[in-house]
Amino acid sequence: MLIEDENNEARNIKANLARVSQQVEQCVQQYKREPGSVRLLAVSKTKPLSALEAAYVAGQRAFGENYVQEAVDKFHALSHLPDIEWHFIGPIQSNKSRLIAETMHWVHSIDRDKIARRLSEQRPDNLPPLNVCIQVNISDEDSKAGVSLVELNDMVALVAELPNLRLRGLMAIPAPQDNHDAQCAVYDPLAKAFVELSQSDSMVDTLSIGMSGDLPAAIQSGSTMVRVGTAIFGERNYSTTT
Ligand SMILES: *Cc1c(COP(=O)(O)O)cnc(C)c1O
Repeated sequence: MLIEDENNEARNIKANLARVSQQVEQCVQQYKREPGSVRLLAVSKTKPLSALEAAYVAGQRAFGENYVQEAVDKFHALSHLPDIEWHFIGPIQSNKSRLIAETMHWVHSIDRDKIARRLSEQRPDNLPPLNVCIQVNISDEDSKAGVSLVELNDMVALVAELPNLRLRGLMAIPAPQDNHDAQCAVYDPLAKAFVELSQSDSMVDTLSIGMSGDLPAAIQSGSTMVRVGTAIFGERNYSTTT
């Protein structure tokens, strides 16, 4: 990339991060959430290292990736950056679980017993437990990803037994829609399940909902971590949420 283009890219990303952070804080105020209670996860899938470095220089520390090999490559390439935090948010095939267990700080997309067990077994002893969220399918009937709310208790019980996983909360990717009230209505049962879970387990503090298209509804519904890609890094050239 030309140096001039790279400077422009860095300027854009810094401005976008500032704008998104401001939007998050404004929603926090508007919906009477506790100040500072919503973290921003920068979803950098498909974006080049220069984009992540620009976000890091602008103060961003938590990055979300969807594709295992890409996530691991970026983890190694940026391992010199102190305090960088890697979140895996995509679907997990069992033959890739070891790579995730060995590199990531968080996994948001736990939805199968087998994957949960493997991640715990494969987590290296010298690393702290892997922070995990259970992915819940709340609206997208066509998607196979996520447990149903009915299955949630069983998955919570399983994760609680696994020594190298630490249950931090719940995650969802609802089917896209534009209407704010409809977005909130879809999140409502999940938000209730999250509140119950956090009351029974003091380590549970994370409701991972909200993307570029539904931040206000997610924050109104109790999100504690919004996962934002497009509004920070611009449109992606390929793929969407898988
Ligand atoms: C891509 C992706 C996002 C970010 O989506 P944007 O609409 O670009 O903000 C968030 N969460 C998951 C799971 C994703 O795959």
